[in-house]
Amino acid sequence: MRILVANDDGYLAPGLAALAAACEGLGEIDIVAPEQNASGTSNSLTLNRPLSVYVAANGYRYVNGTPSDCVHVALTGLLDARPDLVVSGINNGANMGDDTLYSGTVAAAMEGYLFGIPAVAFSLVEKGWSHLQSAQRVARALLEQLVPTLAAGGGAMPFLLNVNIPSRSDAERLPWRITRLGRRHASEAVIRQTSPRGDPIYWIGPAGDAREAGEGTDFHATASGAVSITPLQVDLTDHATVPAWHARLCGH
Ligand code: MN
Repeated sequence: MRILVANDDGYLAPGLAALAAACEGLGEIDIVAPEQNASGTSNSLTLNRPLSVYVAANGYRYVNGTPSDCVHVALTGLLDARPDLVVSGINNGANMGDDTLYSGTVAAAMEGYLFGIPAVAFSLVEKGWSHLQSAQRVARALLEQLVPTLAAGGGAMPFLLNVNIPSRSDAERLPWRITRLGRRHASEAVIRQTSPRGDPIYWIGPAGDAREAGEGTDFHATASGAVSITPLQVDLTDHATVPAWHARLCGH
């Protein structure tokens, strides 16, 4: 059993060490993470310059690139053997609803999934690392459920799970719920300032509040004291509207 650990908060983030600790003893572990915090970089790959891989004093490898770069480089040449599982996180803050489209944490896991490898993204709901040890125990418990099947069978269909863990001291005693992604309101307004040189500059504003947060969503689960586990897919096709678009645009 080989496990590749990545994240988007950078190789020095406490959440990465927590996830690596959660994997300990479950297999051979490789850690490849971004050199700098790359939150919000989604699935971007660095194509306009080469990437370098460095080894930190603790053995973690880090890349001067994005989360997707890390997993891509790891899978396509850096690692001696293909991992059986890719895990990402534990992220500093939730990745629920529309966040998943922007998330580097989810993207790192998704890069593994795109290569046909089962993958799990872990996020701690509140920013600031409070109760990270409890989240680590949740990650451990989930991996203990998943790993034996992977080690035994292999060959099973790859999956991509998005796990959000409430920031609570009793997180390991919370129930697990299989959820769907909720929706957020549109992001809040950009913050305009003036640079020291007098030019206008813009800070991307915070994400919007939850809009679709009803029963069954990730927002609802974490708000009501459960660990949210959302199985994700990559196909963005709006299958339901394909016939209508065909009739509207291809009928002549
Ligand atoms: Mn992050």
